[in-house]
Amino acid sequence: MKIAYLGLGIMGRPMAANLVKAGHEVTVWNRTPKSVPGARTAATPAEAATGAEVVWICVADTSAVERVLFGADGVEPALRPGMIVVDSSTIAPRASRRFAERVSVKGAEFVDAPVTGSKIGAESAQLVFIVGGAEKTLAALDPLFKVLGKKVIHVGENGAGESAKISMNLMAAAIFEGFAEALVLSGKLGVPAEKMVELIESSMIRSGVTDYKAGFVLRRDWTANFPLRLMLKDIRLMLEAAAEEKISLPALKEIEKVYQKAVDDGHADHDYAATVETVRNM
Ligand code: NAP
Repeated sequence: MKIAYLGLGIMGRPMAANLVKAGHEVTVWNRTPKSVPGARTAATPAEAATGAEVVWICVADTSAVERVLFGADGVEPALRPGMIVVDSSTIAPRASRRFAERVSVKGAEFVDAPVTGSKIGAESAQLVFIVGGAEKTLAALDPLFKVLGKKVIHVGENGAGESAKISMNLMAAAIFEGFAEALVLSGKLGVPAEKMVELIESSMIRSGVTDYKAGFVLRRDWTANFPLRLMLKDIRLMLEAAAEEKISLPALKEIEKVYQKAVDDGHADHDYAATVETVRNM
């Protein structure tokens, strides 16, 4: 397939590389010029998208997706009937639905397909896609989902993937906050961190989040797998969606303060696991 891949960050770069490896004809674009071996590099999103069957986006946030699609050199003029735009960024569900409508004016299809699996999942093609969009569009994308991941969960219509994704990240942030606070308290009480992790991993408290993060935390390796600034972005998307729905998320409001303090402490570009350091100093 002819694929334009837009956004070569922690997640986008390995996804584009896996599409190349699978034999697809890939053209890449990134705001800060970057390349992927075996892919053509375009100077603008519009140039990358021209003639593509699928345009796949993975950029930081809602305004970045808007810029890539509808900015001065964005994808919009290259949209054609039958073209599919897939957005794997985590963004506001409401904005995602708006983007889908605007893309459909040109006869193209739009699918929100945020992911879970983080850096290791992207590199090892073990992502889970959380998808909103039409069934027949998903069917056309199936060979590509298979190259990039291990599972596709079709949640519903446009925006539903983003709604499920931000809600699952609420749990990720809350689980990690529990882990961080338990480690800090047990450490103060004299329990070695390795023993605490051994206990967690041997009990019903264990989770995918602690499985992924525990080793990094024990080594105090804050290299970004999921940058803290992006988890804070997601926390704000959750709080914004909750406000729109007139519900309260009391634990999340407290967690937002921890992440803001972590940013103030200089951890924005570190992994969100670095919030352990912030909790320790609060
Ligand atoms: P990242 O490494 O920070 O990469 C962000 C990408 O977005 C870069 O290519 C960046 O370009 C681009 N970008 C930022 N602002 C832009 C703008 N205004 N216009 C155009 N491009 C812009 O982030 P990531 O970890 O790959 O995450 C990408 C998306 O996936 C985010 O929505 C994130 O929440 C989501 N996600 C991440 C993970 C994870 O574990 N990392 C897991 C699931 C979902 P430059 O190179 O020029 O800065």
